[in-house]
Amino acid sequence: MYVIGSACIEEKAGECVDVCPVDCIEEGDDQFYIDTDICISCGACEAACPVAAIFYFEDLPEEEKHYFDKAVEYYKNK
Ligand code: SF4
Repeated sequence: MYVIGSACIEEKAGECVDVCPVDCIEEGDDQFYIDTDICISCGACEAACPVAAIFYFEDLPEEEKHYFDKAVEYYKNK
């Protein structure tokens, strides 16, 4: 699955929402979040993001790994 990292904070460009074929990206308070249970790992959002905030989970930099947990928390607490 894909994860949205720190570059989205305060940027929130939103192009990812328009290209996701399964509609699994939502806007949170400070960033957009991918629902990792629904994401089909197509990569469309990564290509569309103007600030390169989106990573395939395996490619997330170590210091960005906690953004996966942040996304899981977001959907758990909805
Ligand atoms: Fe949506 Fe594809 Fe991005 Fe997953 S990788 S969030 S399915 S656009």
